[in-house]
Amino acid sequence: MRIATQTDQNEKIAARSRSLQTVRDKLEAERREIGDELESNFQPREELAEGWQERDSPAERETREIEYLHRESRLNRFRQISAALERLESGSHGLCSECERRIEKKRLKNDPAVALCLRCQQAAESVLAI
Ligand SMILES: [Zn+2]
Repeated sequence: MRIATQTDQNEKIAARSRSLQTVRDKLEAERREIGDELESNFQPREELAEGWQERDSPAERETREIEYLHRESRLNRFRQISAALERLESGSHGLCSECERRIEKKRLKNDPAVALCLRCQQAAESVLAI
């Protein structure tokens, strides 16, 4: 009886570590993809500044602004994934960074890089909306 329980326990641990490995692989793949994308679109700061001055048509400026915002959002995603990978290493992945409760399974499945539970996420968004 004790042996069976021990085996069940071991299987549970093994299954958990397999699923964490899957999450890690997924996050690392996405991070690599964003890293490559950011690197291939890399423009030195001075070049970017020159571009702003030379091309002063509003349409061109708008395009640059959109590119810049896109780049910012990809960088944020890159940081979010890096933080999630760190939480995986430290064993705190799946726990809300704010209240330390378990993050809803559905939420994590949808995006394994989320750092906040639904409640804390909503609270953060309502602060931003004010
Ligand atoms: Zn929370």
